[in-house]
Amino acid sequence: MPSLKFTVLAGDYIGPEVMAEALRVLDHVAAREHLALDCTEAVVGGAAIDRHGSALPEATLRACAAGDAILFGSVGGPKWEKLPPKEQPERAALLPLRKHFTLFANIRPGLLYPELADASPLKSERIPQGIDIVCIRELTGGIYFGQPKTTVTLPDGDVQALDTMVYRKSEIERITAAAVTAARSRKKKLCSVDKANVLETSLLWRKTVTDYVAAHAPDIALTHMYVDNAAMQLARDPNQFDVFVTENMFGDILSDEMAVICGSLGMLASASLGARQNSRGLPFGLYEPAGGTAPDIAGKGIANPCAQILSAALMLRYSFGLDAVAARLEAAVKKAVTSGVRTGDIAFGRPAVGTRAMADAIIAAY
Ligand code: NAD
Repeated sequence: MPSLKFTVLAGDYIGPEVMAEALRVLDHVAAREHLALDCTEAVVGGAAIDRHGSALPEATLRACAAGDAILFGSVGGPKWEKLPPKEQPERAALLPLRKHFTLFANIRPGLLYPELADASPLKSERIPQGIDIVCIRELTGGIYFGQPKTTVTLPDGDVQALDTMVYRKSEIERITAAAVTAARSRKKKLCSVDKANVLETSLLWRKTVTDYVAAHAPDIALTHMYVDNAAMQLARDPNQFDVFVTENMFGDILSDEMAVICGSLGMLASASLGARQNSRGLPFGLYEPAGGTAPDIAGKGIANPCAQILSAALMLRYSFGLDAVAARLEAAVKKAVTSGVRTGDIAFGRPAVGTRAMADAIIAAY
């Protein structure tokens, strides 16, 4: 029986609540699919600060490195807000994890079932079929990391700040390869988003994406769009995209816009894939809900576990190569939600169920 070796980092507030349900669902999936789970739980975020004085203890990092993937909850919250910014759980746990495992490709499905279309500010008239698109964001390059990064006082007394936007061809090629893989698993349509009318990095981006697709993926229909237009088109008609790929800062902004038009954060999963291959020759990845720790609803047993469960499905697909199993799990989530079982964030006046009952419905639908 093949065993799936991954590390579980549940984190803070609703993190452990939704993770417990995701693991229960995964146990059911594994039993049905004749798979064995080999998961190690480790402490991260605020919980790790409280216990070990560090948001990402050495032992947690070692546990992560020993597995083929990380299933992550979320970290942070009011309890640790007074810490200096560098020690805040999100910054002190997630950024080092991204860096350590070179998690350069952030995959964010923008998914809204037609039955939930009214959760979107676009409303059901504009998106009667719901939303089903994927954003791929480059995560380790661009203006957030480029050097130099300085603030100086000029001789005339004015103050000047400088950020550097920098990309190498090899960085663009590897994110394009990840985007091509995602596009191939869907409609084979890829839109590359840049600002090639203004930025040097975008000129290189556009040329590299074009050359890569021509050489390695002639089966993919590639288009290009400027980022300002992409922001408008997402709000006007999101389904014109299937998969879009973009650099770090543009992706930061567009993926948040996409989360808003998709309604509840409780439904949105994400995957961050690394440059390193795991023991199966597939990308090592970190899989997590798009939302945070939701301290406002923590401890009440009412958080929506779907985003965590859909993140587990992405892990099965990308780090374990179990595409069909992932698709069956995604279908079970859809079946449970569209049959009317809903947590409060997606109930819209219907009676709401709790975190555990939502997971029970997904287990029953699998
Ligand atoms: P949040 O995403 O935690 O919550 C925003 C809103 O969405 C809240 O009303 C919350 O109740 C709701 N929500 C989020 N997930 C939900 C779910 N699964 N089910 C039902 N409702 C859900 O954002 P925030 O309030 O700005 O942040 C809270 C904390 O989370 C902060 O400390 C922040 O730094 C942290 N955070 C962590 C991550 C991460 O670990 N990756 C990401 C974002 C925010």
